[in-house]
Amino acid sequence: MIKVILWDIDGTILDFKASEKHALRTCFSLFHLGDCTDAMVARYSEINRQYWNRLERGELPKAQILVERFETFFRQENILCEDADAFNQAYQIQLSETICFLDDAYHILQDLSAYVKQYAVTNGTYAAQKRKLEASGLEKIFDASFISDEIGAEKPSIEFFSHVFRQIGPYPKQEILIIGDSLTSDIQGGNNAGIRCCWYNPQHQKNNTHLRIDHIIWNLNQVKDIILKS
Ligand SMILES: [Mg+2]
Repeated sequence: MIKVILWDIDGTILDFKASEKHALRTCFSLFHLGDCTDAMVARYSEINRQYWNRLERGELPKAQILVERFETFFRQENILCEDADAFNQAYQIQLSETICFLDDAYHILQDLSAYVKQYAVTNGTYAAQKRKLEASGLEKIFDASFISDEIGAEKPSIEFFSHVFRQIGPYPKQEILIIGDSLTSDIQGGNNAGIRCCWYNPQHQKNNTHLRIDHIIWNLNQVKDIILKS
């Protein structure tokens, strides 16, 4: 019987792509950098993803990737932005301004709170994630939120999950389910922690890993069934 859900936020509950595009476009305008086309957003997004993968592998500290991703992007696009640090800070604020739910996630989580405890487990920066949780109303639904910045460890590290387990109290591992869209952080993390894993895969991507995945869903409305049948 699943009693606890650990929810990833970006790309699982909230539409990160929509927020990313909005934030980037707004900052381009704030910093007078000209137009930011869809193609540029896509190229930035890919650079950002690569940097984030390096963070997950523990190759670079977060403070460094946050600024470097923009330096790399601007260099590639031949855009002159003298203060990538300031750009990043503005971007973090903008990133939390657009709240866009995937699959009516807000009501799904609201409904699930009658059955299970729910916690946020996210790797985003403290400022951006905290604002998002407040602005979205999710903070009121979650029993607590765990942001990697605050803990000093990232998913998929066992340090991150050990901290979460200490805070939520004792549960058998099979009663805890992590739900997330990322194989490298959420599912790898769930495997490391020995809890049940649900991969949210709305784009029907291929799984090229050997990770243990207990459930695969493409719509968050499928979660309730997993809980009720567990
Ligand atoms: Mg995610």
